[in-house]
Amino acid sequence: MRWFLVTGTQRLGDKADVRRSKIIIIGAGPAGGACALTLARDGAEVLVLDKSSYPRTKVCGSGLSPHALAMLDTLGLRETIAPLHIPMCGVMARGPGGTKVHLRGAKGAWVVPRVELDSTIIGEAVRHGATFQQETKVTTLVRDGAGQVRGVETSAGTLEADLVICANGSPSRFETDQSPRYGIRTIMGWWKGARLRAADEGEFIWDDRLDGYYAWLFPEPHGIVNIGLTIPEDSSQAKRLKALFQDLLDELFADELRHAEPVGKWMGHPATLAMKVGPVAESHALWCGEAARLVSPATVEGISFAMESGIVAAKAASRGLDPARGLSPAQQMRYRASLSMRMMPKFWAGEGFVRLMRSERARSWTTRLFNPQKLGERAAMVVGESN
Ligand SMILES: Cc1cc2nc3c(=O)[nH]c(=O)nc-3n(C[C@H](O)[C@H](O)[C@H](O)COP(=O)(O)OP(=O)(O)OC[C@H]3O[C@@H](n4cnc5c(N)ncnc54)[C@H](O)[C@@H]3O)c2cc1C
Repeated sequence: MRWFLVTGTQRLGDKADVRRSKIIIIGAGPAGGACALTLARDGAEVLVLDKSSYPRTKVCGSGLSPHALAMLDTLGLRETIAPLHIPMCGVMARGPGGTKVHLRGAKGAWVVPRVELDSTIIGEAVRHGATFQQETKVTTLVRDGAGQVRGVETSAGTLEADLVICANGSPSRFETDQSPRYGIRTIMGWWKGARLRAADEGEFIWDDRLDGYYAWLFPEPHGIVNIGLTIPEDSSQAKRLKALFQDLLDELFADELRHAEPVGKWMGHPATLAMKVGPVAESHALWCGEAARLVSPATVEGISFAMESGIVAAKAASRGLDPARGLSPAQQMRYRASLSMRMMPKFWAGEGFVRLMRSERARSWTTRLFNPQKLGERAAMVVGESN
């Protein structure tokens, strides 16, 4: 794969650079990559900046739901990505009482290691004309006297832009959303040689210690599995994350891991959930993906929403962006409304489920609440049994 890499020798901020970098995207995850690809196909001049060196590892279960696969279709990338995936056609959902249900999805999900998914998407964007500058950390959004975003300050210098798209994930240092954060902590690891009941089946385990959230196991290509947990950051158990993870591995995944070898170290990354779409648009700036808190409160699924919001941001940017005035108030409103309409119904349904799972009273109705079918409804969304 060929990368367009601007080296440190290039003088950033000189006139030639400034004119070329009409749209700057911060972050080359699925949000930034999908946005860059859509913009590049539309003929826009786009520069993507990422602090990492690609291909880079991302702390993620790497599960692509049917909705994520639909986004790959929109991007025209399903065939390109297909050789990198392992199918996940079913899930085993297990409640705190130990009740289990095995579900097969009509549509099926894929697991594609993020190290490959993200570099393939951004690679396609580069192939279509986007410029990708790695190992460049954006430190601030540059604002003019009127408070309008006019560019970015980076570890390598200042760059001006007509529009800056923040796709820098969670936690975003550039977010303007002042509403309370609802944070999730995570920890996960990878193993080789795990014994699975079915090679194409994932696991979701709702355990009381996870305070309404769950532990998961997803199969990856090449005989690897990833296992992790999600837990609200305000949960008392979140303070002993590593010890809790070890307890769960010993108690819940002992059979699967009996003959398995760990691959690499455990890793963690926070997620911030949204119950509404906040301030995601200004005249010269848009936010998408996790930088806009677009993550499902129930499953912490975010790849599909990252790609979808990246595509929507690209469409907003390529439809009549006035370089001097930027996006009009109506265009900004349309962007926010479009994200709300597409994503919020799914997020609210998810939040209702989590509230139920966190409720003391509800938990005491163990047999009714944790009936396999109820758990299955959530888990089944991952493999496409319901939407
Ligand atoms: C443990 C865990 C498991 C998950 N599992 C799943 C799953 O199985 N399926 C699913 O759909 N979702 C999952 N998610 C959610 C998913 O990982 C995210 O929602 C998704 O990565 C968001 O994509 P993004 O492009 O918005 O941000 P990211 O993928 O986080 O990309 C942001 C990019 O911005 C770059 N960046 C950050 N700051 C700067 C800066 N200042 N300057 C330059 N570059 C910068 C980073 O290097 C990174 O490459 C999981 C999340 C966690 C934490």
